[in-house]
Amino acid sequence: MPRTTSRAILSRPTPENNGRKPRWNEGVREGRARASQPEMSGDSARKEGGGGATAAAQAMRAGDDERWMRLALEEADRAAAAGEVPVGCVLVDVDGRELARGHNARETLADPTAHAEMIAIREAAARTLSWRLEGATAYVTLEPCAMCAGALVHARVRRVVYGCADPKGGAIDTMFGIGRDTRLNHRFEIVAGVLAEECAERLRSFFAQLRTAAQARGGGCGKP
Ligand SMILES: [Zn+2]
Repeated sequence: MPRTTSRAILSRPTPENNGRKPRWNEGVREGRARASQPEMSGDSARKEGGGGATAAAQAMRAGDDERWMRLALEEADRAAAAGEVPVGCVLVDVDGRELARGHNARETLADPTAHAEMIAIREAAARTLSWRLEGATAYVTLEPCAMCAGALVHARVRRVVYGCADPKGGAIDTMFGIGRDTRLNHRFEIVAGVLAEECAERLRSFFAQLRTAAQARGGGCGKP
């Protein structure tokens, strides 16, 4: 997201997070790297994880997660094409239907809140005529920031699936625990690391091009 400078993203070491968090600036195995279900524990968690039928359902859901994440990546590409930091988001309802999609448009709209998630949330709420997006899943190519994670809490989404972690501003796992913090009145399931390497590569390529352009202009800081 636009919250992070290119230098910080590319060179800043990823903070520790109990060794569980996929880093977007290194190779991360694609797929469902980790899932957490803060509201599920004990018997319900064991029930969820047992049985062949459940395993098949989980595998199917993992495939769905990747499919939706690819759409989010398409949104990230649209952002990059517009000169925006490539982050995309797709919101899907409880029945697996797309509600909305969005990409980072902070520069285009001159709006500090125009993150991919915010745009998608607003569109989904407008379409459904409800601020409650209960049952929805948000697919985001980059770990949401504090603003977007907070908005996802407010929207009451059921799941947040993200690609690569944001070592500078991630608020789901990296810097904060928004989405699993029991002090908040809503929590959501978190799945991290879906197509993480592809999501990270979008960002690496984007900032590499920025550096190349800055060098061509004779500058070294990436600013005109
Ligand atoms: Zn954000």
